[in-house]
Amino acid sequence: MQYRKFGKLDWQVSALGLGLENLPEAEDEAIKIIRAAIDGGVNFIDAGSAGQLKRNAPLLAKALADGNREKVKIAAVIPAGGINTAADFERELENLLNLFNNEHPDFITLGGLNRFTWEKAAGLKITKLIEKAFVDRKIKYAGFAFHDEYQFLRDIIAAYDAWTFCQFQFSFMDIDHHPGVTGLSYAAEKGLGVIATKPLKGGSLTSNIPENVAKIWEEAKPKRSPAEWGLRWVWNHGEVATAICDMSSLEQVKENIRIAVEAETGAFSVMDELAISKARDAYRSLKPIPCTACRGCMPCPQDIDAPRIFEIYNDAVMYNDTATAREIYRREKHHIENCNECKMCENRCGKRILLAEWLKKARELLT
Ligand code: SF4
Ligand code: SF4
Repeated sequence: MQYRKFGKLDWQVSALGLGLENLPEAEDEAIKIIRAAIDGGVNFIDAGSAGQLKRNAPLLAKALADGNREKVKIAAVIPAGGINTAADFERELENLLNLFNNEHPDFITLGGLNRFTWEKAAGLKITKLIEKAFVDRKIKYAGFAFHDEYQFLRDIIAAYDAWTFCQFQFSFMDIDHHPGVTGLSYAAEKGLGVIATKPLKGGSLTSNIPENVAKIWEEAKPKRSPAEWGLRWVWNHGEVATAICDMSSLEQVKENIRIAVEAETGAFSVMDELAISKARDAYRSLKPIPCTACRGCMPCPQDIDAPRIFEIYNDAVMYNDTATAREIYRREKHHIENCNECKMCENRCGKRILLAEWLKKARELLT
C-alpha cells in the first residue's frame, strides 16, 4: 500500500480509503470486505453519517474487533443541511458518538458544505461549537465535505484555522468543477489533508460505458481497465491524501489495493494524459444541457436549485445511468414540480439556456 501525508498531522494515510456505502447486504460478506481492506493496508474508513451508521456501526464494531481498531482511523459525518441551531449540532454529535459506544471516531466531517449551508453554519458560529467539542474531548479532528465553486472553498478554509482536512468529489471528470484541480491545490497548499471521494464517480466511470468512451479505452496503451485509468489519474495528484472507494466485493478490494500499490504520484506520461483527456472529451460531447454551473440564474423564488438539477440530469445522460441520478435527486430532496415557469432564472442566464423547458425534461427523467 502507498501511504501519504495527511495535511499537517504526524500520520500517513493509505492512498486507498474505504467507504461503506456499497457494502453487500449480508453482514458476514460486509465484514470480510472491511477486514480484507485493512489486511491490505487500508487505514482510513469513511463511516458516513448517523443515518448510514445505524447499519454500519454494528458492522464496523465486529469488523474492528481483535485489534483492527488500532490499525485504522475512522471519519464520521454530521450533515450541515440539518443543522439549524446550536442545539441541533450538539444533538447530532451526541447521536454520532452514541453510535460508536463512546469509542469516538478520529475525524468528524461537517458534511454537505456549499455557499448556502456554509452561510447558515457560519451564522450559527459553528466553529465555536466545534471548539467547544474539542475542549469536551468529543472531537479529535474536524474537517468538512464540500461541493461548490472554488472561491467558496477558499472562504471556508480562511474562516477557521483548525480544519484538519477537507473532502470533495474528485475524478478525471471533475478537473474544473466543484472545486476541481484549483481547489485541490489550494486546500493542500493550506495544509489540509485532502480526501478525494467518488474517484470513479460512484461507479459511473466503470459501468454502462458509452460506445465513444469504450473505444478510447480499447485503443489506449497500456491496456488498463476504466477503473485503473480513473484511479491512477487521481493518485497521480500528490495533493490527494487518500481516495475513498465504496467497495462492494472482495475482488474489488483486491484490485483496488493492487492499483494503489502500483500507482505513483506524477507518474503519468503525455500519452496517459492524452488518453484521459480524450475520454473526458468523449463524455462531455454527450452532455445535453450546456450549463456551466456558474449559478448566475440563482436564487429561485421557489427554491429550485436548477444548476444542481441540470448537473444530475447531465450526469444521467452522460454516464447512461438514470437509476443513480434518480436516487441522488430523491436523496437531495429537489422539487421541480414547484417551478411556476416565472422564467426569472432564464433572464439571468448568460448562456440563454431555456431553463423552464429543461426543468420539465429533467422532471420527466428524474421523477
Ligand atoms: S446561469 Fe445558466 S449556465 Fe449558469 S448555472 Fe444557471 S443555467 Fe447554468
Ligand atoms: S422558472 Fe422555475 S426555476 Fe426558474 S426562477 Fe421561476 S420558479 Fe424558479
